[in-house]
Amino acid sequence: MFQKGHKPVRKATPKIDSKVEKPSNTLNPVEELVNRVPKLYQNQYRLALIGKASYSKAIKMKCYECCGFEDVRERVPECTVFSCPLWNYRGGKRRKDNVSV
Ligand code: SF4
Repeated sequence: MFQKGHKPVRKATPKIDSKVEKPSNTLNPVEELVNRVPKLYQNQYRLALIGKASYSKAIKMKCYECCGFEDVRERVPECTVFSCPLWNYRGGKRRKDNVSV
């Protein structure tokens, strides 16, 4: 099969680039969410998402998000979703008009 002095020819293996390029427009998941929020609330919303905001500010951001960040000063205090666990704390404040059981 092989003659003396004959070297078997090896096929060159294709080089596989070990570095997989990430698409350059990929954002951190937190930043993707933050970018959906109006600029005015982005910093507070980011802090709430990463767990660096106080409880009251995190609740406030949740209520603002729930209202779509529109007319929040009117909508949040007038929220009528009594079944929401945050209702007594809506807007990040302890409400006096809370529902007692
Ligand atoms: S209290 Fe009202 S505004 Fe706040 S998260 Fe609950 S339903 Fe939304």
